[in-house]
Amino acid sequence: MKRREFIKLSGLLGAGSVASPLLLSGCTEHPLPGSGTLAETPTFCDMCFWKCAGFVHRENDRPWKITGNDQDLHSQGRMCTRGTGGLGSYEDRDRLRKPLLRVTAKDGSQSFREVSWEEALDFIGKRMQSIADRYGADRFAMINHGYGARHFKHLLRAWGSDSHAEPAFAQCRGPRDTGFKLTFGEGLGSPERTDMEHSRCIVLIGSHIGENLHNGQVQTLSEALRRDVTLITVDPRFSVPAGKSRYWLPIKPGTDLALLLAWMHVLIDEELYDQDYVERYTTGFEQLKAHVARYAPEWVWLETGIEPHLIRETARAMAAAAPATLVHPGRHTVWYGDDTQRSRAIAILNALLGSWGRKGGLYIQERVRLPRYPLPPYPEAKISFRDAHGDRWPFAGQGVTNAILEACIGEDALYKGLLVYGTNLPMTIPGIRPQLRAAMDSLDLVVVVDTMPMEITGYADVVLPECTYLERYDDLRNSGEREPSLALRMPAFEPRHQSRPGWWIARELGHRLGLQKYFPWKDYSEVLDWQLKQVGSSLKEMQQIGVKVFPRTRPRYFAEGQEVRFRTPSGKIELYSQQLKDRGFDPMPEYTRPASPPEGYYHLNYGRMPAHTFGKTTNNPLLFQLAPENTLWVNPLVAGELGIRSGEYVRLANPDGVLSNRIRVRVTERIRPDSVFMAHGFGHRSRRLRLTEGVGADDSDLMSNVLVDPIMGGTGMRGNFVTIIRERV
Ligand code: SF4
Repeated sequence: MKRREFIKLSGLLGAGSVASPLLLSGCTEHPLPGSGTLAETPTFCDMCFWKCAGFVHRENDRPWKITGNDQDLHSQGRMCTRGTGGLGSYEDRDRLRKPLLRVTAKDGSQSFREVSWEEALDFIGKRMQSIADRYGADRFAMINHGYGARHFKHLLRAWGSDSHAEPAFAQCRGPRDTGFKLTFGEGLGSPERTDMEHSRCIVLIGSHIGENLHNGQVQTLSEALRRDVTLITVDPRFSVPAGKSRYWLPIKPGTDLALLLAWMHVLIDEELYDQDYVERYTTGFEQLKAHVARYAPEWVWLETGIEPHLIRETARAMAAAAPATLVHPGRHTVWYGDDTQRSRAIAILNALLGSWGRKGGLYIQERVRLPRYPLPPYPEAKISFRDAHGDRWPFAGQGVTNAILEACIGEDALYKGLLVYGTNLPMTIPGIRPQLRAAMDSLDLVVVVDTMPMEITGYADVVLPECTYLERYDDLRNSGEREPSLALRMPAFEPRHQSRPGWWIARELGHRLGLQKYFPWKDYSEVLDWQLKQVGSSLKEMQQIGVKVFPRTRPRYFAEGQEVRFRTPSGKIELYSQQLKDRGFDPMPEYTRPASPPEGYYHLNYGRMPAHTFGKTTNNPLLFQLAPENTLWVNPLVAGELGIRSGEYVRLANPDGVLSNRIRVRVTERIRPDSVFMAHGFGHRSRRLRLTEGVGADDSDLMSNVLVDPIMGGTGMRGNFVTIIRERV
């Protein structure tokens, strides 16, 4: 089926009844006085990517609360607002309930029909087989987000496809990990290896810890503040951490790289850098010294608006606390298209301070050596995401979502089938709607797996309702951390409606595709139990404790004078990158002046709010109560000029004529007059999201100027300008 109409799911609204959850085996029960019981099952949270471990508590078989697991390093025993609101995702009356199949009526109109799992899976299996017969199994791609995607990656690798991409790379932390890898030979992991609990100086550059609730980091930053850490925040906005900082540097948007180079200039000029560390571990110092000589604070002041004495004072504060100084690498790093180079500058600054591998800087992570369940090797796929990239972005170590989608367009497209797992592409990838529509008109098969009727489901041939993380097993969590640890996610409730766990969906599809040998288990708990037994634990033990911490096998920091071979071509920390030079890029970060907004326009800045994770949680009934809409931060000077007041609604328009949904104004001194700010994740269009549809504005809609990073393909989203249009009352 081609020429897909975008289907709004309003015709399939359910009654919103609440089914009684069933108790499952494996949970821990406690009798209550009388006849009731309390029960708890371990999980790790799926409300964001931090994966905090906790317990789901039930009282007399009813959902009660979610609490943190004291043994867990991600949560340190405490869940954040969104984590405790996880029960809202289970109880959401708008959840997907049954598989949906696109059907075309006699008059050509298209709609979804509810079908059985057998019909939906048979349909997908036949289409995948037909694509494989005509073109090859590797002409099927996946775009995914979230831990549960592992089951579908396994399915596609077993099928012979190795083309996948996640927005977490090209729309988020890809430039950062690429920049650090080019410098230190490895990335930062998730959670990041930031040793804030021991830092004496922390520098945040456009990073809003406390607004973006990365649980463990918020807690370690709070501990550092209690110890009177020197906090330096660089942000055009007076953010939550800016309010707790010794220095707030309200930088002109887009000039951060100039400031970073000026800090290097001061450290080298005043000989404040860690000379022993630089000599022992780095290469390219002399080139760097010559390179930053021209970035004197007096010149950089004109670019950034940060006065020279403040640039010097903050550089000296960093040096005074080094090596227990952390220049935080950030997370959402796709800004102005020079993002890998800006991240390289952050990496180099950390190297000059001697922070990598040192207490209070960036520690050495360790994970559990967990054997893989024994399965046959995957068949070799002849094409991969690199074929979709072509000769673009030589340092893209993962698939770039935009490239995968572009490779789905046209009669002779590389990909003929696409599976989208857990990511709402229209609101995740800036300016993607035209390509998305063209891709959907070209593909032979589009499958969406999700728990909620997000906008992306309207493009699918088949929508498969996955159950929430509270109703399923997933792979063990095994993140690099201060101590190696494993965490278990297990079902606290039976899947509601006709939703099913991802592992079950992948297995059933695998069986239809003749891949039984890759799915020999009846229940995924068999895989987990086997793996756990290889490391001296068991499923039974983990069902009780949830998290198991293992002893480290190597130190967390470099020893004094230790010889270290970094995983770069030179074996050193590469201040000067020959790799970049060889591919035609600047070997050291170069600053380029950003474009300024035209008269009457403002920089569009966006960020997070503590109650929500992107657009994924705005319909969650518990979290919706806390934060039902986003607001537009406007400086009083601008508000006065335009005659707008706090509480009134406006719309935003970009220079290409795109008009936003209406958004409520918040007049505040906390934003520069050349910028406005809103939280991301609002302005949903799906009518099936009954709480949040049409509420607030969607920043990604307004992003038609996408600044692509030439090194790794990241989509810079901060180069957009908007004007404010008063809403007629
Ligand atoms: S930070 Fe909050 S939302 Fe994210 S995993 Fe942890 S508890 Fe869940």
